[in-house]
Formats: sequence, structure tokens, C-alpha cells
Amino acid sequence: MNRLGVDIGGTKIAAGVVDDAGRILARFRRETPRTGRGSDVMAEVVDLIGEVSTRYALAAIGLGAKGVIDTVNGIVLQDGDTLPGWGGTDVAGPVRAAHGLPVAVDNDVRVTALGEARHGAGVGFDRLLVASIGTGVGGGLVFDGEIAHGAHGTAGEIAHLLVPGPGALPCGCGRWDHLEAVAAGPAIAAEYSRRSGRRDVRLTEVADLMHGGDELARETIADAGRVLGAALAGLATAIDVDAVVVGGGVAQIGDAFLGPTRSAFLDAVLEPLERVPVVVAALGNDAPIVGAAELVAGIRDETGVIGQGA
Ligand SMILES: [Zn+2]
Repeated sequence: MNRLGVDIGGTKIAAGVVDDAGRILARFRRETPRTGRGSDVMAEVVDLIGEVSTRYALAAIGLGAKGVIDTVNGIVLQDGDTLPGWGGTDVAGPVRAAHGLPVAVDNDVRVTALGEARHGAGVGFDRLLVASIGTGVGGGLVFDGEIAHGAHGTAGEIAHLLVPGPGALPCGCGRWDHLEAVAAGPAIAAEYSRRSGRRDVRLTEVADLMHGGDELARETIADAGRVLGAALAGLATAIDVDAVVVGGGVAQIGDAFLGPTRSAFLDAVLEPLERVPVVVAALGNDAPIVGAAELVAGIRDETGVIGQGA
């Protein structure tokens, strides 16, 4: 039976009706209220789900949300920096109360990883590391088709890996020498600005310049890719994965970024991991919606008991 996957982002709430094969049958979208109150965001989510349920019968609802999530209670433990007032918000409660369906909540990047693992670039791999490189850096680990959470819900949080040399911007956590401060889109753009002397350059402009033959742009993008590849190699070796999936807006630059990522990965992994593929994400912006719906795959009965997935 169809499930609803909801991706609660800093600017938009995107939802999709997802079938058992992981296909999105219908899409819905709202702007995220930026009032500084998480309850206002959840009221919009509940309203959106109400709109969906007038048209589609739903078995369950899965939600991906910013921040560190208490996945047992469906509550945001710690706020990300993209959504003011989000910390402490009860995500599962209002949805369950309004719609009476089984509900599950997890971190948006972990949910994205689950979507790629079950229906995207990670299909067929048992131990998967997913890296999302966009305006920030995030990640997820999916082992045997299930999200690995760790003891504190941070498993897969790769943003704060130490990397060589501070970039031109601080990390989202305020420190300087972290992966996110070198490989995220704003970090690459800021580094290009620093090297070129041009002010206020965005990543899309750096990518356009690179495609137009600007060697400095190509080198700046490649350097970020190499740092990512080396960091992922150390991580992949430590936890021994059988594939690495790289997604997010920066990955969409393509081979100018991913080529150096792959070669640095190969240079840095131990020999038994030399055949571990570094593949590009397959689901794009659909991954968090499909993954959120996968949180509630395998509903067994009307009591809301959630199984281990399809
Ligand atoms: Zn950091």
C-alpha cells in the first residue's frame, strides 16, 4: 500500500506518495514557515498531509527532518542551523495525532541515504557510506538495508572530519579545519573568491566558469574533490564499506569534482578496498522523499507496528 514520504527542509516541505517499488506517484509542496517556531512548521506539515489524504489512501507516513533526531520518540534533539526554532520540536506527535497512522522520523540526510540504499545507487551493496555534498556536508551509513544510528544518532555525520588546511570559511560548527569547511558548495565558492580576488562568487558561477575553460575554477573544484576523496577513503577503511555514494548539489558538477574525488580515494584506501566503487547518487532530490517513505516500509498491521522494511 502507498506510503507518504515527507522531507522537511529549511525553505520547503516536499512530500511524495510512494508505492511499494519506491516510485513517487504524486508530489506535493509547501513553503516552510520561518516564524522561529517548530510547531508552525509542523502545522503546515499536518495540513499538507491532510490535503494528500483526501486524494490517496496512505498506510503510513515517514518524515525526514533537519538536526539530530530522537528516532524513538520522533523529536528533534538538536537544531541544525537552517531552521530557526527547530530544536526540541515534536515531529511525530502532531502527525500521529492528526492522522492516526503509523509515523516514523529520522534525520533528512540519513533518510536520503536510506532512499539511495534501497532504490538508488546503493542497491546491491550491504555496507554503504553515503556522502551528501551541498550547501553543507552530511552523510549516512546504511548496513543491510537499515540506517545505522550509533549510540547518539550521529553515525554518518561526516561534516566534521578533520581535513588538511583550513578553507576560506569556517565549518557550520564554527571550527575551521573540517570537511564541510572545504568541500561544501559555499566553501568551494569562497575558496575560488580568495584565489581569484573576485567577490561574492556562488558555486554555480564557479561551475560555469570551469565549463567555460577557467583553469582556476577547475583546480579549485578539483582540490575540494581530492580532499573529499581522501577523507572518505580513511572513513571507508575504518568502517569497511562495500560502496560509497556521493550526492548533493556539488556532486552534480560531475566529473570535474567526482574524478578527483575518485582518484584521491583510490590513492588513500588500503589495498583490500581498492575495488570499492565511488558512485554518484541516482535519485537526486527524490532521495529524501523515497527514503522517508522507506522508514515506514513493511507495515504489518493496523496497530502501527513497523517492520524491518520491504
Ligand atoms: Zn565542523
